[in-house]
Amino acid sequence: MNSIFQADYTIVENKLLCPVCFAKTDIGTILRCSTVSWPYQHWIYFQCPECGGNSHVEVHNQQIGTGLLDGAPGPCFFYCSQMQEPDFWVEEHSTMLVCTYKENRYIFHAKT
Ligand SMILES: [Zn+2]
Repeated sequence: MNSIFQADYTIVENKLLCPVCFAKTDIGTILRCSTVSWPYQHWIYFQCPECGGNSHVEVHNQQIGTGLLDGAPGPCFFYCSQMQEPDFWVEEHSTMLVCTYKENRYIFHAKT
């Protein structure tokens, strides 16, 4: 199995994959299957409906990327896949991230 931590891993562009099982996913699925957030890092916590694996998704205005955290002492985000999306917006608050996608709003409370 391919691993995104391998030095020769190439980030997949213009589509979104689960970084655990590499199943194809999409923004709507990620937003429905994510729970908590880390607002300052712009991460949400995603549970893949295909494999049940947990991973992180980095969300910015008009841009979303799947990946995994690794490294110490501070975790570093390794991208698996990323895509641009003109209808995707992120509001950062100290206690939550609010993502808006195609007029649906998704609220992810900060992990405490
Ligand atoms: Zn998966």
